Amino acid sequence: VIDSPPLIDFHCHLSRSGGLPILNGPKQQPLSGAPQSARVLAVTNTPSEWAVLSRGVADPRVIWALGLHPGERHSSAAVAQFQSAVHRAAAVGEIGLDFRRTAPTPRSEQIRRLDEMLRLIDSVPKLLTLHSTGATRETVDVLSDHRTPGAILHWFLGKPSVIDKAIDLDLFFSVNPAMLRSTNGQNAVAEMPPNRVLLETDAPYGHGGKAGAVEIDAALTSAVRSVARLWQLPELEAREQIVVNQNAILERAMFRRWRSV
Ligand SMILES: [Zn+2]
Repeated sequence: VIDSPPLIDFHCHLSRSGGLPILNGPKQQPLSGAPQSARVLAVTNTPSEWAVLSRGVADPRVIWALGLHPGERHSSAAVAQFQSAVHRAAAVGEIGLDFRRTAPTPRSEQIRRLDEMLRLIDSVPKLLTLHSTGATRETVDVLSDHRTPGAILHWFLGKPSVIDKAIDLDLFFSVNPAMLRSTNGQNAVAEMPPNRVLLETDAPYGHGGKAGAVEIDAALTSAVRSVARLWQLPELEAREQIVVNQNAILERAMFRRWRSV
């Protein structure tokens, strides 16, 4: 049996999905040879959430990302807190743009804020996951003014031309089971070259938005199955491609702790 390295969930609201205990739950149908439980890039929605969790909840399988969710309202103090903490964070997310009508921050202000955040991490290797709901083109446009190789566009539903532009900027895409079930999502993933695709759960939002325990391993395994079908590859080959991509991202972010050979 080949010892296959663990999969990484590159976008998970872990604190809203049952927290660390969900990583210890019974594994459901791991792929053959698989085993160790998943690694998780755990995003936060506010800098204070990050401050509490990154200090208090330590686990080698989890890295906490500093976030300022674009779909939520933030005080200027929260924005300032993000700016002063970003140098200490090995990972950033979730940040980005949210152009849904329900988003409380005006679009122009969101763009200005994202641009400022990216200026602080320009050319600094970090794991970075971005939200782009209703704003795929605009998010890639803002990124094009900065150097963020290996930044990850999560649940990305951009048009083919925008996907191509993202690839020119050396960006990657993380895809989840809910996305892979929808026609929109499948069409977008079909446009993404296999060597640009990573996995995520976006738990709990990728699971109907219900807060509660999510079986991360099972969700990632289901995502592998779906991309394998899309790529017309056996599951184990699809999984190997994902692992190669994971290593490429960790290399760009200079995050060697999770590298697998
Ligand atoms: Zn999210």
